Amino acid sequence: MIETILYYPLSRDRLIDLLSSSGEEEKALFDYSTATKLKNVGNEVYLRGLIELSNICDKDCFYCGIRKSNNNITRFTLKYEEVIESVKYAYEKGYGSIVIQSGERSSRSFSDKIDKIIRESKKITNNNIGITLSCGEQSEETYLRWFESGADRYLLRIETSSEELYKKLHPKDTLHNYTNRRNALELLRKTGYQLGTGVMIGLPFQTTEMLADDLIFMRDLNIDMCGMGPYIEHTKTPLYKFREQLPITTVRLSLALKMISLSRILMPDINIAATTALKVLDQKATEKAIAIGANVIMPNITPLFYRKEYLLYENRSEPLFSFEDELALLEKRLETISHRIGYNKQGNSKHYTKNWSRCIPE
Ligand code: SAM
Repeated sequence: MIETILYYPLSRDRLIDLLSSSGEEEKALFDYSTATKLKNVGNEVYLRGLIELSNICDKDCFYCGIRKSNNNITRFTLKYEEVIESVKYAYEKGYGSIVIQSGERSSRSFSDKIDKIIRESKKITNNNIGITLSCGEQSEETYLRWFESGADRYLLRIETSSEELYKKLHPKDTLHNYTNRRNALELLRKTGYQLGTGVMIGLPFQTTEMLADDLIFMRDLNIDMCGMGPYIEHTKTPLYKFREQLPITTVRLSLALKMISLSRILMPDINIAATTALKVLDQKATEKAIAIGANVIMPNITPLFYRKEYLLYENRSEPLFSFEDELALLEKRLETISHRIGYNKQGNSKHYTKNWSRCIPE
């Protein structure tokens, strides 16, 4: 029997304790978040077909493989037609939503291209496909333009809510400013998007206290979606030299799962993604994350040819089979934890639909 009293209210100290839990205590935490999840969002898992639009990035984040200064990769941008083909594919296969993710750029031609993709994607799917954008910090005008063209959600990770740690992970300039990123999240909320954020877990210099603060940050920001995952090292980045400080794989995985579990308890009706980075640590990480709190999966539908160049981190597991087989396999894996895919559903955040009068389908 799991005692609700153990989890409400969740003080900062209690969060720190639970993030450090193991054995029976960790199991009790996972049992509680599983029950919270089933009660609030059920056992349906929503699909977002992930399209990695471009690895060209103006930023130079110390942890990221597609950072501007990494000269060891071939830069690419998908052609407009290739993106639209991927959207058609997603729609035909029953993906209710797509995510367009990209290295960050703020040129007019970049914003025009995204705008055209949003409009056409809605048009060819009779407005049925849900669109999440993850294209970094943009001006208020651009956020509004994309929203008015039909984008439904925006994911912008704060990366860490600790300004002190943020400064250690980024160059010191206006392009990598903590306050600007924080303000961008406010702009997105004001614009009307379903708002998503998240953090990296297991970073060098990161403490359990910082992770507890990340959870409180996300709750207080009143987010609709959360996409967070473990930090995975990349040899061609400045942060690589601190790899000795990283928690071992099993500890990083357990920490990531506890962050998901606690997010579900703190924010029962939001959408939480089982992110791709988890799979680098454990082949079964997706099922584990779904079982204890996540309810969104983002299979990669970027044309295979480009995927090897979108390496945010190394050891990324790429499917060798066709996308169709990937969904069949996913269905089987989800069956083992009594979950099913919500085909043809946008899978909007319940938290958002409850709080906004705008009528959007679940
Ligand atoms: N440029 C956009 C932005 O800033 O939101 C979106 C693309 S960015 C590459 C997507 C996310 O990848 C980042 O928010 C970051 O959390 C994650 N990422 C980058 N490098 C990573 C690494 N080494 N390990 C895990 N996640 C990483």
